[in-house]
Amino acid sequence: MYENLIKLQTDALAELTAVADAEALEAWRVRYLSRKGGALGEAVKTLSTLPREERPAYGQAANEVKAVVEAAFAARQEALRAAALEAELTGSAIDVTLPGRAPSLGHLHITTQALRQLYAIFAEMGFQVYDAPDVETDDYNFGLLNIPPYHPARDMWDTFWVSQDATPDPGQRALLLRTHTSPGQIRVMRERCPEPIRVVLPGKCYRYEQISVRSEHQFYQMEGLAVGKNIRLTDLIGTLHEFAHKLYGGTGKLRVRGSYFPFTEPSIEADVECVLCRGKGCAVCKYTGWLEVAGAGMVHPVVLRNGGYDPDVYSGFAFGFGVERPSMLKYSIHDIRYYYGNDLRFLGQFG
Ligand SMILES: [Zn+2]
Repeated sequence: MYENLIKLQTDALAELTAVADAEALEAWRVRYLSRKGGALGEAVKTLSTLPREERPAYGQAANEVKAVVEAAFAARQEALRAAALEAELTGSAIDVTLPGRAPSLGHLHITTQALRQLYAIFAEMGFQVYDAPDVETDDYNFGLLNIPPYHPARDMWDTFWVSQDATPDPGQRALLLRTHTSPGQIRVMRERCPEPIRVVLPGKCYRYEQISVRSEHQFYQMEGLAVGKNIRLTDLIGTLHEFAHKLYGGTGKLRVRGSYFPFTEPSIEADVECVLCRGKGCAVCKYTGWLEVAGAGMVHPVVLRNGGYDPDVYSGFAFGFGVERPSMLKYSIHDIRYYYGNDLRFLGQFG
């Protein structure tokens, strides 16, 4: 054998064992096996410098070295490919036996669900939904509802004022966040007069109040208004009876108490027999046997007139209640602050 060929084979095989990836393997291939300038090719070229009689033996030896080195290259290439495949398989392994992860789906807020249920109940009785603005003038929120400036009844609603311009008529310009949905009564009456009206007015109300488990500074209210000829207190009680029966189920037994609101005369509050204890008394009804349903009354003649209706010809009834309250009773939710605290642990229970 020829020394240069032996050294070439030894070096090539030693370097090949150190090759760790495809990139290094390619560099090794260029160095030894490349047709242009590869070490093996260069060794074969020295053939021409040898004496003629030595050439066949040298050529045969060179071919043997080439076969050994090429076989080693092919083996190394295959080993690296297998290793790369193995790494890829173990690196991104998918365990098909793991339980699936359910996608997180959104759903309607508990208050939106309550509102839609209420719309459906009142739609069956012929009530349309009427939307009124959240920011109101002092006039719409108070004055036109028979609560003039400095009237003591204003103390019933602690108010968020938005602006209070110093004008000769403060009631006209002062802006506030509505403290109840009642301003919408004036708006719908002025829009539809002299047509008969049967609407519910849902929406957010705002009170400048200490926040507690029973009162938030924002909450939903729904108000009902019916105006027409020959509308009587019995129509109001019948409507509340039907509403309570559909909302709470049970017998729908109703109790009416006298009350006071500046914009209704007479004013009443209605209670339905507690559906949980059937009137016997329980923690939900505070052992009275009754659940409060709504504040209500016949629309005050002053309010009718402010809405454009002649109180000698027309009459009407109105009622209002908190939208959160029925679901608080139904699900035994004792703290109204959960509704708007954006805690998904709470909201997620009502999907
Ligand atoms: Zn009860």
